[in-house]
Amino acid sequence: MEQNKTHFDIAVVGGGMVGAAAACLLAQQGWQIAVVEQAEPESYSPEQAMDLRVSAISPASVSLLQQAGVWDAILAMRVRAYKELATWEVPGLETHFKAEEAGTTELGFIVENRLIQLALWRQLQALPNVQLFCPARVSKLSQNETSVSLTLGDGQTIQTSWLLAADGAHSKIRSLAKIGINSWDYRQDCLLINVDLEEEAPAITWQQFYPAGPRAFLPLAGKKGSLVWYDTPARVARLAALSPVQLDKEVKHHFPDQLPACKVTHHGRFPLTRRHAQQYYQGRVILLGDAAHTIHPLAGQGVNLGFKDVASLTGIWQTAQQKQQQFGDAQLRQYERERLCDNTLMQSAMDLFYAGFSQQHLPLKILRNLALLAAENAGWLKRKALRYALGL
Ligand SMILES: Cc1cc2nc3c(=O)[nH]c(=O)nc-3n(C[C@H](O)[C@H](O)[C@H](O)COP(=O)(O)OP(=O)(O)OC[C@H]3O[C@@H](n4cnc5c(N)ncnc54)[C@H](O)[C@@H]3O)c2cc1C
Repeated sequence: MEQNKTHFDIAVVGGGMVGAAAACLLAQQGWQIAVVEQAEPESYSPEQAMDLRVSAISPASVSLLQQAGVWDAILAMRVRAYKELATWEVPGLETHFKAEEAGTTELGFIVENRLIQLALWRQLQALPNVQLFCPARVSKLSQNETSVSLTLGDGQTIQTSWLLAADGAHSKIRSLAKIGINSWDYRQDCLLINVDLEEEAPAITWQQFYPAGPRAFLPLAGKKGSLVWYDTPARVARLAALSPVQLDKEVKHHFPDQLPACKVTHHGRFPLTRRHAQQYYQGRVILLGDAAHTIHPLAGQGVNLGFKDVASLTGIWQTAQQKQQQFGDAQLRQYERERLCDNTLMQSAMDLFYAGFSQQHLPLKILRNLALLAAENAGWLKRKALRYALGL
């Protein structure tokens, strides 16, 4: 890791999963990189309790993390592969998606967000052309035709040719660059609940749709699991205020029969908002990950879309470099074109699920259950949709 440079080719603000992955891949291309992050990820030890924030990582995201050189380090910590996904509204009318239908050995891996970030962070610390500014926050941003100037909270300044904003859903860089967003709150919040299991669960994740929102189970490494309970903000607030013992009773009463024998250990509440930036770049500032888009997490696609942003942008950068072209307007437009379309498609698909399953009119209920039944038997179409969701 380099020290004390103040001019960089690319600065990344936000060293979360998306920003850190982008920084690793761009550093591999030989650029001088600065990463500005407000808090270093906590280090790992096997006896630590599981974090609440976990992500279902698709095979495409695994390839990206392999390319960044960190997947083996993540595997050496805690991950859980899952090979099947089941979803239903009416018990007995279940749709199953299996890894073999997608032509893969697993549908994905469930990993704590912090461990993905930590493995990337360790990699960044080892790269000679990366300088980490942490803990640090940006207080001022100005740009002209050739560079961006950042002032950090402690008064330090950084000059950079390009600035990647990967500072999450509430991106300060997005506001400083005056990029607007379209957003609305889903009328649902989400309670994440970690549980201890009596037996290790099979490698199957499932989700049942209820009128107020889905309830889902994700197997975690060892005898652990994660429950996701979507409901009205008021009900989630009430549930979040319960002790683990009280919540345990609610879970046993309200989760589907498929829930394995378990005990609640800890839980936390997350509000859900859909956001989409009105543009993916402004001058020399480029948005990635949650800074550009947030999505309903019911199909676990958020960070997978962020990693697709990373793959697209770093690929475009590499092609320009190989062709000895300057990265500029044409490349920015290509990035926006590629990602805006794919992210909009996935956001709209999630909104369709959210809206479709929130309606309790009988004809609509019959229609969506017929759709689930059709999906179960859709053969080629089901395989195609599954491979798209896995980024294959
Ligand atoms: C309940 C829930 C469940 C989810 N489940 C899944 C799932 O199963 N699969 C999936 O793919 N996605 C899932 N997601 C979405 C996923 O968590 C996000 O898409 C992902 O965390 C986005 O990563 P990011 O790096 O873009 O942003 P973040 O994870 O928000 O990281 C932003 C980084 O920027 C830093 N930062 C912020 N502001 C500043 C600042 N001013 N200065 C310096 N640093 C700053 C932060 O410290 C952080 O490190 C879920 C989301 C929710 C809410």
